[in-house]
Amino acid sequence: MRHVYLHVPFCQRRCSYCDFSIAVRKHIPAAEYVDAVLKDFDLVSASSPGWVNPGAMPRGSWEATPLSGGQVGESGDGLDTLYLGGGTPSLLPPEAISALLTSLLDVFRGTPSRDAVEVTLEANPEDVTLEHATAWRRAGVNRVSLGAQSFDDGVLQWMHRSHDATRIGDAVRALRAAAVDNISLDLIFALPAELRRDWARDLDLACSLHPAHLSLYGLTVEERTPLARWISRGATSRPDDERYAEEYLYAHERLARDGYRFYEVSNAERDGHRSRHNSAYWSGRAYLGLGPAAHSFDGRVRRWNLAAWEAYRRAVAAGLPAVEAEEVLTEEQRELERLYLALRTDRGLPRSACPPDRVTAWRGEGWVEVEGERLVCTPEGWLRLDALIRDLTNAGRAV
Ligand code: SF4
Repeated sequence: MRHVYLHVPFCQRRCSYCDFSIAVRKHIPAAEYVDAVLKDFDLVSASSPGWVNPGAMPRGSWEATPLSGGQVGESGDGLDTLYLGGGTPSLLPPEAISALLTSLLDVFRGTPSRDAVEVTLEANPEDVTLEHATAWRRAGVNRVSLGAQSFDDGVLQWMHRSHDATRIGDAVRALRAAAVDNISLDLIFALPAELRRDWARDLDLACSLHPAHLSLYGLTVEERTPLARWISRGATSRPDDERYAEEYLYAHERLARDGYRFYEVSNAERDGHRSRHNSAYWSGRAYLGLGPAAHSFDGRVRRWNLAAWEAYRRAVAAGLPAVEAEEVLTEEQRELERLYLALRTDRGLPRSACPPDRVTAWRGEGWVEVEGERLVCTPEGWLRLDALIRDLTNAGRAV
């Protein structure tokens, strides 16, 4: 495993659109969390040597001395990426983040140096202070993904976010002062019309902060969220497809003016700052997930942990595997995934994987471009990615 994901489930409140597996807590049980994740790793090491070689997990509490002992690693190339996502990982105290990273970064044999590992922390702007950012950087964090979402205070309140717009710029400046330059901003688009969100202004303000990376997500309505309830009682309108397409295409045009390039349907970078961790997912590489609800994949088997924090914590404390279930992907499912992953990135499909009549039709519609021997989606193509995959599988071809 060269890619490790840690799911940190805690949030201080639930955002109006969010259906993630989270635990809303006023006080974050950081010590219990760190102990549980390290125990989880220990159990995976012991029970599934094919996923992680056993032999070197930390013992004792998270405040104890960092790992010494042996090292693990399957390829000799060491760990490549470690991603703390959530939830809100920035709610963990810096000492807890440091304890986790100290334990996990040093345990993979062959990692040339800590800084060779892309270590991403998802953070909410209100948690980013110079003190925290400095401690994160010292612990090994070298990339921060900030949940900005919008620069409009009214919109942020509607989303139940706990920051205001000024905190976003403050957070970016604090990160840079702490030498964390690889910064990504998340923004949400296609909001209900009555919010009168000015998408162009938000993109201008995001660009003015010069982040290395931007992730743009269209609002979706998930069941059992406050947003779904507001819509069902008519208090909010449903996000519409036309606005989605308009804002998505505008973002491509606007970000290109500032030198950003979309390398995946929702992600844009400049100066080569792609997310190595997410790129590993999109390339179908193996990864190990730790923490409640985390998924793991070894190229053939996908498995996922118990989603509820308490159930997860109790299982690992009792020495039981935290895995809730697994599925073995059939060759057909893997082909479908390969198609989907290839088309959603700027890697594109080998031209030979697509019937010539489809290539002609899609190019005619402006949905793909031919780059050498590969077919790569245009922004218009990415807008209808699912339909293109259906079209291709109906044509009975695979990569
Ligand atoms: S901070 Fe993120 S994970 Fe937490 S409730 Fe909001 S959207 Fe969901």
